[in-house]
Amino acid sequence: MTDPSTEAAASVDAAPGAAPATPAEPLTPGRAWERMKAGNERFVTGAPQHPHQYSDRRALLAGGQEPVAALFGCADSRLAAEIIFDVGLGDLFVVRNAGQVVGDTVIASLEYAVSVLGVPLIVVLGHDSCGAVATAIDSLTTDAPPGSRFLGDLVDMIVPSVRRATIALEPGAVLDPRAVGALHIQASVEALVGRSALISAAVAEGRLTVVGANYALADGRVDPSIIIGRL
Ligand SMILES: [Zn+2]
Repeated sequence: MTDPSTEAAASVDAAPGAAPATPAEPLTPGRAWERMKAGNERFVTGAPQHPHQYSDRRALLAGGQEPVAALFGCADSRLAAEIIFDVGLGDLFVVRNAGQVVGDTVIASLEYAVSVLGVPLIVVLGHDSCGAVATAIDSLTTDAPPGSRFLGDLVDMIVPSVRRATIALEPGAVLDPRAVGALHIQASVEALVGRSALISAAVAEGRLTVVGANYALADGRVDPSIIIGRL
């Protein structure tokens, strides 16, 4: 089967639904975000084009990669990165773990995407009804120990967002997991930019933008809530 986008794929970062980048038109943070948004819109509206998912694309990329963006998101099976942004092989540099917690290996992987692959955009993606967020909330209200030290360490990285959401509650109000999730997306973005001198320098120089966003499980829409840098 032939990839309908093969001709455009002569430029590795070209994708249907967006103007192909040319040497005179480098992939900026803003252009990368526009392409991500366009792909998500195709997915949301049930009109995906499934670009770059065929054997000829695979052969084209065998010699190297030039992804449009890096995506750091929750490992939840419903956040399948290439599907929800309607992209394909070579389009996204993807790093995921449960609850999108910013650990050292995550930072290193994203630094590689920025410094070696030159991605102009990092999307940090959380989602509603996140099991890791729910576990972090439960950890403050139950005495049940985590299943393992590793699980406990991961949950502990979300707990500060639970505490912040709890402090912000009106008297008598019930903690909303969505509020915790929103704070945790913000915390993940801030931890990434705050801990990585390489990433914060790229943002300061205008070469990189970091977008924190929430993915709605029911309708598939990616909704940005925090932007560090220019788009
Ligand atoms: Zn999750």
